[in-house]
Amino acid sequence: MTPEEKSIFIRKKLDELFPQPDIPLQHRDPFTLLVAVVLSAQTTDAQVNRVTAALFERAKTAQEMTRLSEQEILDIVRSCGLAPQKARAISALSRILVERYGGCVPQSFQELESLPGVGHKSASVVMSQAFGKPAFPVDTHIHRLAKRWGLSSGKNVVQTEKDLKSLFPEQAWGKLHLQIIYFGRRYCPARGHDPRYCPICSCINAHDEDEV
Ligand code: SF4
Repeated sequence: MTPEEKSIFIRKKLDELFPQPDIPLQHRDPFTLLVAVVLSAQTTDAQVNRVTAALFERAKTAQEMTRLSEQEILDIVRSCGLAPQKARAISALSRILVERYGGCVPQSFQELESLPGVGHKSASVVMSQAFGKPAFPVDTHIHRLAKRWGLSSGKNVVQTEKDLKSLFPEQAWGKLHLQIIYFGRRYCPARGHDPRYCPICSCINAHDEDEV
């Protein structure tokens, strides 16, 4: 199968398995999504959602967040990995949003990626999920699966994002990002599982045994 043929099969299969994937990070608007995304590095979505429920009770806008001290934010987000860095980033980015953007989240990659704690993947999630702009966020799980499925050489996430964007239509990128994440969570967690039962690898002969 060529990568193009695989991409068609995979998209169809993911649409069958996850027809309407929910956004896993709970949020009310672009600002709360941005904060949740910053908190999500090396932390489960469930943990982020627990923390943001408490954090957004205290501050749900950039203005309100600037009224909390970094220490107060840290006290609330402490159970997340890398909590001190994340509290610092949330405090600093809220100040920047108030000072430069009237408290709103900017809608360009360049502006988003200039904010503390926001890298390209996080900016892609916000662009896609908050603003509906074409973006294909690629995290390590998607990077690994794209390689296993033969959709990318898997050199690095930058290359994987480029490869996936060229294989799939733009309007499907945001949904595919979520579908691949849900697929990985449901089917891929265990090492030593039997790839013959995988709804994708078993059909496209994509699996390299030592990667299981
Ligand atoms: S064979 Fe296993 S690791 Fe590969 S995609 Fe399927 S479930 Fe995931």
